[in-house]
Amino acid sequence: MSSQTAGLICAHHHLYSTLARGMPAPKTTPNTFLEILQQIWWRLDIALDNEMIYWSAMLGATEALLSGTTCIIDHHESPNCIEGSLSTIAKACSDVGVRVNACYGVTDRWDNSGNLHSKVSPLSSMTSSALRGLDECDRYLRQGGRGMVGVHAAFTCSDETLHVASDLAKKHSVGVHLHVAEGLDDEHAGARLESLATENWLLVHAVHLDRHLPGYIVHNPRSNMNNSVGYARPSELKNKVLLGTDGIGADMLEEARLAYARLREYDVTQSPVTVWSWLENSYEIFPEARHDKVTYNYDHVDSEWHAAFTPSIRAIDVEVDGEKIVVNGSPTRVDIYEIRAKAAEQTKRLHERLATL
Ligand SMILES: [Zn+2]
Repeated sequence: MSSQTAGLICAHHHLYSTLARGMPAPKTTPNTFLEILQQIWWRLDIALDNEMIYWSAMLGATEALLSGTTCIIDHHESPNCIEGSLSTIAKACSDVGVRVNACYGVTDRWDNSGNLHSKVSPLSSMTSSALRGLDECDRYLRQGGRGMVGVHAAFTCSDETLHVASDLAKKHSVGVHLHVAEGLDDEHAGARLESLATENWLLVHAVHLDRHLPGYIVHNPRSNMNNSVGYARPSELKNKVLLGTDGIGADMLEEARLAYARLREYDVTQSPVTVWSWLENSYEIFPEARHDKVTYNYDHVDSEWHAAFTPSIRAIDVEVDGEKIVVNGSPTRVDIYEIRAKAAEQTKRLHERLATL
């Protein structure tokens, strides 16, 4: 038995949400998933500026690293700070020493007059906001950034935008990273994406997906439970399943334990081996993470049955590409206290802005 694993991978994160914790509550309690998007996440993303994005990503990446997560597949949205945002996130991750696969999640929900439409007609035209998001993905990928083309979700995009995003991804030989049928508001995603999706797409959630689509499916059990959108039944999918957090930290052993508990609630014959195979599948996207070394305060971490039933396991040392970037629970490239202090300053600015929205 070993106290080491390879580097862990968070297959769906939103580093921009790290500073949301403790944000001012919405004026009324959201009743539905769409209201959660409207009153929490679409209120947060329009408030972000470049400095907030950087320190949110710095704190999120550092917390990931301290959990043994050395790679993050990020999905970003900041409608009032689009240009350059992916490079800001990539710089933060590089400063900390975490690998990132970044994308900007394009959407037509903001029309050309700046009005919000929570559902967008498939027949409408691409908005200037979506075009700016696609341009940011294109710029970042052309300049050698590691990433994908991001789309928020089919129900907030026109067919034109979905097609252009798919073409852009093909041009760069990458997949599209998007939320798919997370809630019933997006139940037509399968029909709309069927002619576009390919094996390298990242289909996130797929709780209400009504047909098979090619691509990886990213399961986010804690987020799905938190938003009360339903269970995705990932063990029954033909697709390769990966595990993500949807922005609720990046502690992948913790997410795997929760995924296992939720799976067992659904099917008591299942074993943790199923869930740990979802962690394993992410090495297809970050193969080099297999050579990272994470050492834990527990000597049976490589056994699925041990890890699934030992909630207190912590990463102590982390080595990426031969460099020790966490020693005795502290990051070596950055000062965690400075990051927390700077993040707190930006959190204050962000929450003050949110209080007015
Ligand atoms: Zn998400």
